[in-house]
Amino acid sequence: MELIHITKESGIPLIGCIAFGIIDRGTDLLQVRPVSGCNLKCRFCSVSANNPDIHPTCFSVDVSYLLEEIEKVVRFKETSRAERSEVESSSEQTECEINIDSVGEVTTYPHLIELVKGLKAIKGVKRVSMQTNGVLLEGDKVYALQKAGMNQINLSISSLNQFQAVDLSGIPHYSLEHILQLAKIISDSSIELLIAPVWIPKINDAEMPRLIQLAKQLNAKIGIQKYEIYRYSRKVKGAKQVNFWKFYQQLKALEKEYGMKLVMTAADFSIHKAKRLPSMFEKGDKAQVLVKCPGWIKGQMIGVAKERCISINNCKTAIGKRARVKILESKNNIYVAAMVK
Ligand code: SF4
Repeated sequence: MELIHITKESGIPLIGCIAFGIIDRGTDLLQVRPVSGCNLKCRFCSVSANNPDIHPTCFSVDVSYLLEEIEKVVRFKETSRAERSEVESSSEQTECEINIDSVGEVTTYPHLIELVKGLKAIKGVKRVSMQTNGVLLEGDKVYALQKAGMNQINLSISSLNQFQAVDLSGIPHYSLEHILQLAKIISDSSIELLIAPVWIPKINDAEMPRLIQLAKQLNAKIGIQKYEIYRYSRKVKGAKQVNFWKFYQQLKALEKEYGMKLVMTAADFSIHKAKRLPSMFEKGDKAQVLVKCPGWIKGQMIGVAKERCISINNCKTAIGKRARVKILESKNNIYVAAMVK
């Protein structure tokens, strides 16, 4: 697997590629992706992380560059709020939450503590949270994260059965005991704990009540996620994807039975709408890009234009050359394109 280190000098923007950088979905929560690699091979992984046949490239972003670009986006959101409050005569001061997540595992990023410290030093960042599978986290790292200012850890645990947990992780040395000890350490710290299972119908149905009980015992929140199948997902044999209506009915039934809030909305996470970064390309647009490096998905290259990354499918253009592309997907400033012949 090729590791690409993204620095300011590389000229690769941190907006536009789903695998690294900053994702703005038009709210005051920014997703920050410092790294794309993963240490597990979960059988339900929606992106097939850690599969070099699909993802031959792994990205890691220079921490100073990442912090500098995040600060620009936070300032942009702040400016947009100032403009809005002038119009609305409102003095409301909303600040951003940064959620450190990944198409892989954020604890594989060697500068995680420095990143958290740097984020908390940015004026206008009110909260920092992160997703993790927990395998690489030890107690001392949790204390270091707490000291750096981490507010919440969303810990993936999808089964309390050791045999099933190992099976789902795709890694024989996965230790449920370690993850449960870690959950206790986090819950005893000042960092909020959210247990984040994926509910895989017909596979771990019986685990959901047990995980709810665990969250109760640890005084933690729980955010049960729906099993989704995408183009590049690993599909769990025998599992069936349910629709959102059925999923929420099931959550409501468990809510009633266990007296714990399970149906979460943006309001529960205090997420508010905030002005979006301007979209530079719409679906169907054509653009001239400078090819910078291989992309996250096999066959892709990353091209750059208008301060955005564009992932170009089936691209054979050499690095440093220009290519003409047609935008196939444009959502939340994430772009995928095809070559124009
Ligand atoms: S930890 Fe997350 S990204 Fe890694 S394989 Fe599992 S589901 Fe995929």
